[in-house]
Amino acid sequence: MNDRTQRTSVWTRRSLLVASSAMAIGASTKSVARATSEFESGTLEPNFLEGGFIDAHVHVWPKPSDDYPLDSKYTVADVVPESFTPDAILKLAGTENVRRVVLIQMSFFGFDNKYMLECIRKQPKQFKGVAIIDHNAPDVEGTMIRMQEQGVRGFRLYANAQNVAQWDQNPGIDAMFKTAAKTKQAICLLSDPEVLPAIEAMATKYPRTKIVIDHFSRIGMRGQIDQEDLNKLCGLSRFNKVFVKTSAFYALGAKQAPYTDLLPMIKQLRDAFTANRLMWGSDCPYQVQVPHNYKSSFSLIGTQSPFLNEIEIKAILGRTADEVFFQD
Ligand SMILES: [Zn+2]
Repeated sequence: MNDRTQRTSVWTRRSLLVASSAMAIGASTKSVARATSEFESGTLEPNFLEGGFIDAHVHVWPKPSDDYPLDSKYTVADVVPESFTPDAILKLAGTENVRRVVLIQMSFFGFDNKYMLECIRKQPKQFKGVAIIDHNAPDVEGTMIRMQEQGVRGFRLYANAQNVAQWDQNPGIDAMFKTAAKTKQAICLLSDPEVLPAIEAMATKYPRTKIVIDHFSRIGMRGQIDQEDLNKLCGLSRFNKVFVKTSAFYALGAKQAPYTDLLPMIKQLRDAFTANRLMWGSDCPYQVQVPHNYKSSFSLIGTQSPFLNEIEIKAILGRTADEVFFQD
C-alpha cells in the first residue's frame, strides 16, 4: 500500500471512500466529493521548529492477518485502505517538514495495540502513541504504566453519550483518570458536542489529568458550526489541563479545502485556550482521501490563519504536541 498509484486507485472508488470517511471520525454523513480548487500556500521557515513539526493525530495499521487480527466488530471489508504504514505517513508529512507523529490506535484492532507499539519501538523519536485499553480489565494502572515505558503518552476513550453516562460509576474510568494524572499521560476523547457538559464534570473531578479533545469535539461534523457548542468547548479553557486538537478538517464544516470556513472556530479557540493548548493533527490516512490532501490540512494552520502569529503557528503545529506527547 505504499504504492501511490495503487492507493489512489483504491481510494477513488466512491463506495470505499464513503465507507472509510464514515469510519474516520464516526460520521454518518456521506463524504462530499467535490473538485479541489488549486491550493496555493506560502512556505514556512524550514527550521521553524527543531525536530520538525508534529502531526498530533494519525492512524497506522497493518494488513489484517493472523499476527494482526481484527477486532470482532470489524471485517476485512471495513479496513480501507487495507493498510497505512509509518513509511507512508512520514513520506507524506515530510513534504511539510512534519517529522514527528502521534499515532492513535486504530479501532479496527480493538485493544490490541501491538502494531502501534512496534512502530514506536522501531522509531521512538518519530512516534509516540495513544492506546486504547479495556478500562474494565484488571490492573488498569499497571497497564498504563507498562505502556508508558513503550512510548504511549495517552489513552483514547469514545466519549459518546451512552459511554459517558457510565463514567461516573465506573472504577476503571476512575483508575484511568487518576493514573493519568500521576503518569502525566493524557486522556484523549473522541467526543460528540453533546457530551461537553460531561467532559466539564470530568475536568472538575480530575483537575490534574490532561484531557485532549479530538477534532474540535466534532463540532461541524454535520456541516454547520454550532455556536452554542463552540461556546461550551471554549468554556473548558478554564481548566488549564484541557487541550483541543484542531484536526480532521476534511470531515468538518464545508469539508472542502482550503477549509477556511473553519477559521472563525479556530480563532475563537485560540482566544479561549491560547495556541499553547491547541494542536494540529491531520487524521491521516483519512485526510488524504481524494479530493483531500495533506498540504491543505497543514496549510490551514501554517499559512491560512491570518490571526495567528508565528509563535502561535509554531505552537499549534508542534510545540503543544511536543509538550503533551513527546516529553520523556
Ligand atoms: Zn482519527
